[in-house]
Amino acid sequence: MKRGFILSMVFVAGFVLASGVGTTPAKAETKFVTIGTGGITGVYYPTGGAIARIVNNKRDVYGIRATVEATGGSVFNVNAVMSGDLDFGVVQSDRQYEAVNGLAEWKELGPQKDLRAVFAIHPESITLVAADDADINTLQDLKGKQVNIGNPGSGQRQNSIDALANAGIDFEKDLTAHGVKAAEAPGLLQDGRIDAFFYTVGHPSGAIQEATAGRRKVHFVPITGVEKLLEEHPYYAKATIPVKLYPSATNTEDVETFGVKATFVTSAKVPDEVVYAVTKEVFENFDEFKELHPAYAVLTKENMLEGLSAPIHPGAFKYYQEAGLDKHIADELKPKQ
Ligand code: GLU
Repeated sequence: MKRGFILSMVFVAGFVLASGVGTTPAKAETKFVTIGTGGITGVYYPTGGAIARIVNNKRDVYGIRATVEATGGSVFNVNAVMSGDLDFGVVQSDRQYEAVNGLAEWKELGPQKDLRAVFAIHPESITLVAADDADINTLQDLKGKQVNIGNPGSGQRQNSIDALANAGIDFEKDLTAHGVKAAEAPGLLQDGRIDAFFYTVGHPSGAIQEATAGRRKVHFVPITGVEKLLEEHPYYAKATIPVKLYPSATNTEDVETFGVKATFVTSAKVPDEVVYAVTKEVFENFDEFKELHPAYAVLTKENMLEGLSAPIHPGAFKYYQEAGLDKHIADELKPKQ
């Protein structure tokens, strides 16, 4: 009884403190914003962390506290930003295009009219990792194998299906398709439970390092003959995986494949001042931002405005105008004034 009383007093005192009664009121209310990323061994997770860190440095100025969430990836992030569960998300450029146009995963839901682009980030490549002992040297060799194509909610799932279909392979019939998250795939490959996995990711990434550094020897499988795929999907471009980033992979040469870009998105419902602050801090601290991950080495302020399909959020656009960067934005993506 006595113990219960003390506990409830502590509770009341805590409540009084938390509600600000009897204390000096805080200067301004803190705005919490959440950023959806991907698995913790991908590049989206540290990317969300890099953006949050830069924004949180100016907490006194903006009163914004950004936090990062590990998620299932691009498709999950678009949907969570649209429902208001997340304020921002890292999303593949190809999924951004499909969402805004109501295609692929959004065929039934229709165009995601409130989706807004903020900026583009690092390049990502459709990366196929296979165990050396599974004799997989081309996409054709995946027939009859155990292959992780990506969890529903990830960006890579549709990329894997597209790559397979382009090679005449039906993922539902010609192989055993697994749908686990990218963070789990390296362990399954090392344990011999899958023969290969797809991951659409920037390089270097922790997941690929983990997959290549185990006892089971692994290599990247080139994805070639993609001309028709690139014609049909304007957001895909040829890409190369630099093998020097993964010294334990058994490839001796860089690997041909195709790729997309990571982009940063939000909703039309997120206030202009929040999106303005995030955009301004990333661009004004560009050199510091670039240092935060080796995948950002190729970034320029101009190429961070390429590869977007959703209209630019007015808060971001305000900054681009102030900084004279708006001339790099396609007219059809400029917000309607
Ligand atoms: N591209 C992946 C996806 O959209 C995530 C990659 C990462 O987390 O770096 O699901």
